[in-house]
Amino acid sequence: VKKNLLIGIGFDLHPLRARRKLILGGVEIPYHKGLLGHSDGDVLCHAICDALLSALGESDIGSLFPNSDPQYKNISSLILLREVMGRLRKYKRRVMNLSAVIICQEPKLSLYFQTIKERLSAVLLIPKEKIGLSAKTTENLFFIGKKAAIASLAVVLVGE
Ligand SMILES: [Zn+2]
Repeated sequence: VKKNLLIGIGFDLHPLRARRKLILGGVEIPYHKGLLGHSDGDVLCHAICDALLSALGESDIGSLFPNSDPQYKNISSLILLREVMGRLRKYKRRVMNLSAVIICQEPKLSLYFQTIKERLSAVLLIPKEKIGLSAKTTENLFFIGKKAAIASLAVVLVGE
């Protein structure tokens, strides 16, 4: 039995806007809108960052990478995720697995899951098989259903 496991949960949501690239899990997804944010607005990467930081008992990415700081403007969220992984290493800990949901009415994301898993596995240093992704719509209801936003939830297990 593995001891000293830590679990962490993270959530994020960004509004969809015209003239923005849609980046999820570090992968650019063809769509006529993208997520608005100080960084690239990658809700999946942000939810994963917060899940990892939460498992470590640290404060969230909003306080770690403040959106008032110009160095993070339009930054790839994979870079933020790498920085969070650096913290994990300081604690001599590693990711055991990741389970995440993307809540999105459009576009259809499952086509990109393999690419997203490859991208994330390289940063999280876990095999693709340890990454579970699912996509859910909100059945055309609420802001997400009206294609005004995309949200993500992530759960991570962190071991030694
Ligand atoms: Zn975010």
